[in-house]
Amino acid sequence: MPEVYNWHLGRPMAYRFDAGNTQRQFAAVFNINRCIGCQTCTMACKSTWTYSPGQELMWWNNVETKPYGSYPQDWDVRILDLLDEANGGKQVWDAGTTEPVRAPYGRFDGKTIFEAADGQQEQVLGYLPHEDQWKAPNSFEDHATGAPSRGVSLPVHKGWFFYLQRLCNHCTYPGCLAACPRNAIYKRPEDGIVLVDQERCRGYRKCVEACPYKKTMYRPTTGTTEKCIGCYPRIEGSDPLTDGVPTETRCMSACVGKIRMQSLVRTEPDGTWTPDPANPIYYLVHEEQVALPLYPQFGTQPNVYYMPPRWAPREYLRQMFGPGVDQAIERYMYPSRRLRALLQLFRASRKIVFAFDVIEGPRFAEFVIDGRPVELFNDTVVGYDSQGNEIVRVSVDEPIYERPGKLNSI
Ligand code: SF4
Ligand code: SF4
Ligand code: SF4
Repeated sequence: MPEVYNWHLGRPMAYRFDAGNTQRQFAAVFNINRCIGCQTCTMACKSTWTYSPGQELMWWNNVETKPYGSYPQDWDVRILDLLDEANGGKQVWDAGTTEPVRAPYGRFDGKTIFEAADGQQEQVLGYLPHEDQWKAPNSFEDHATGAPSRGVSLPVHKGWFFYLQRLCNHCTYPGCLAACPRNAIYKRPEDGIVLVDQERCRGYRKCVEACPYKKTMYRPTTGTTEKCIGCYPRIEGSDPLTDGVPTETRCMSACVGKIRMQSLVRTEPDGTWTPDPANPIYYLVHEEQVALPLYPQFGTQPNVYYMPPRWAPREYLRQMFGPGVDQAIERYMYPSRRLRALLQLFRASRKIVFAFDVIEGPRFAEFVIDGRPVELFNDTVVGYDSQGNEIVRVSVDEPIYERPGKLNSI
C-alpha cells in the first residue's frame, strides 16, 4: 500500500492511493462554545439539497448533543471500539515532539482505520449502521450527564453536554474514497471537495461502511450513495447568488450562533498546509492552535476543526480532539490580541474570507479574570476575498445604535 503523510498524526501513513495534487482545500473552524443548538444549519442544508423522495433520513449537516446524542446512533462509540480492539487497547500519542506544521499535536503511533484493515478483503476498518440507527437524527437533545444540585464552575461542570456540529470533513485521505470498488468517489484538485459520481455509483455501500464519521448516506430510490457536496456552486462562485466570488456554504452562512468560519487553504503535495498566517483558518489551526480536528486518530485528516467546549471533562475532549485540547482551551479563554480580533469575523461576511488583517485601536476596558489582568483594545479586523478586495470590517467594541423617539408604528 502507498504511504502518504498525515500531519494530524505527525507521521507517514498507509493509504490505498498516493496523495493527490490538491492545490487548495475546503476547510472550516467551528467554535463549539458559541453553538446554541438551533439546527438552522441543519435545515438550511436539508431544504437546499435533501428534500426529495428517498432522502427523508439524510441529514448531511446535523448537530448532535454530546455525550449521548449521535447520528447515526452510536457512530463514534462503534468505530472507537473497533479501533481500540485493533490496537489492543493501546492508542497513545507522544505529544512531547511537536512541530507547528508537520506534527502540531505530536505523534500518534496507534493504527488508523486504514492500517487496521486487512488490505485484502477490506481497505478500511468500518461497519455498516443498521437502518434503524438513521431514524432519530436528534436523539438525546439537550440531555446532560447529570443534574447538579448546586451551581457549577469551570474547568469542568458536574452535569454537562455540548453540541457537536457535523458535516462531511472533505478529508485529505477520505475513507469513503479508499473503500469504493467502483472508484466512483473523487476529490477535486481545485478545492479538495469530495464527491460521489452518481453515474458510476452502484450503491454497494462500501463508502457508508468505511466513512468513520458516517457522512455518506444510501438513497433507496436511486440505489446510489449521496453525501455533502460542499455546496460547490457557492465555493466556485458559479451560483447566481454569489456575484461570481467564492461564497460560504448554506450551513455556514445560515449559522445563527456565528460559530462557523470557512475558507480555502493552500496545500503542499504531501497534504500539509502551505504556511499562510493571513488566512483565517490557517491562523486558527496552525498559528494559534486553538481549533482541532475531530477524532484525528481515525487517520482521514479531516478538514473541519473545532474549538473545544471549556466546560466538558478534559479526558473526554482529548479522546475526541487529540492531545492539543488543554492548550486550545487555554488560548481561547485568554486570547491574544490578534485572536480576539479575528473571533469577531465569524459569520461577519457571506463571501469567503481568504485573508485578514488587524488594525490596532485604543484600549477601552481592563478587568481581572481568575486573577489574571485582561485588557481590551478596540482593534478592527478586515477581511479580503479571493481577489484581495476588502469585503468586511468589524471592530472588537461593537457599536450600539439607539433608535430615536417612537419605537414602532403600533
Ligand atoms: S467525512 Fe466521510 S464522507 Fe466525508 S470525505 Fe471523510 S470519509 Fe468521505
Ligand atoms: S456544505 Fe452544503 S451540502 Fe454540505 S452540509 Fe453544508 S449545506 Fe449541506
Ligand atoms: S446554526 Fe450555528 S448555532 Fe445553530 S445549531 Fe447550527 S452551528 Fe449551532
